[in-house]
Amino acid sequence: MPAPIQIGNAVIHRIVEQEAPLFDAMTFFPTMTKEFLDENRGWLQPRFIDAEDKLILCIQSYIVRTPHHTIMIDSCVGNHKPRPTRSFWHMMNSDRYEKNLAAAGFSMNDIDFVMCTHLHPDHVGWNTRLENGRWVPTFPRARYLFADRELAFWSKRQQDEPAACPWITDSVLPIVAANRADIVKSAHAFNDLVALIPTPGHTIDHFSVQVGKAGADAIITGDMIHSPLQARYPELGMVADYDSKIAGQSRRDLFGRVCDTSTLMCTAHFPSPSTGRVVRHRDGFDFIDA
Ligand SMILES: [Zn+2]
Repeated sequence: MPAPIQIGNAVIHRIVEQEAPLFDAMTFFPTMTKEFLDENRGWLQPRFIDAEDKLILCIQSYIVRTPHHTIMIDSCVGNHKPRPTRSFWHMMNSDRYEKNLAAAGFSMNDIDFVMCTHLHPDHVGWNTRLENGRWVPTFPRARYLFADRELAFWSKRQQDEPAACPWITDSVLPIVAANRADIVKSAHAFNDLVALIPTPGHTIDHFSVQVGKAGADAIITGDMIHSPLQARYPELGMVADYDSKIAGQSRRDLFGRVCDTSTLMCTAHFPSPSTGRVVRHRDGFDFIDA
């Protein structure tokens, strides 16, 4: 079980659903050339890409416990969900996530808030679970925070082409219908310890979550970065980006702000331990384990 991380008087837990080589690196980063990958393979292997050039990714939630609230950030893939274009997420039926949640000391009832950094299938899945053929909120007491423009974008997409985004149908809209959604700005001070910070580009209104105060703080990045390769080369876009140029700018802005400070970055998808500090590396950045 991953060790909890103490940040001031908050504690951050990682709840892992999956960790495996999932995507072909060349497909995942469509502008990357073979030569570019060859140049970087030395430091990426074996930890970040495997021998077949597949990116090793972790799929996980973070849970932040403050003196006042228990907040889940991102809710992974979920069970029984049709994801026909992603074989490794299609109709999952595993007790791994619930077991890891319990091992970290949490029950479904403990979660006060779920914050979705963005509305992609690996960040909203456990929002709901199947009960008597209906999708119901998994966390019975929780309010769910969505960014307003993110929710509007995906609601429209679901209306226009439901087959293109089944996760909105089964994992987002049922939360709205159950009146559990708190629709907020992607720049939103949740309380004096937790704030949403806009990191757009990967999706239209993506946010990251800052926990604590300068000097003792952490940023839960969501998908503003997927691999340390995008720290070294912030402009490197990934295949599912809404706007890779804006995503690159978000990385330059945020990493420029936190580099060479004590801010702990808690990434969604880096392999375990998934956390690190940002330092400068040539005209980009690097993650060092922390
Ligand atoms: Zn993701």
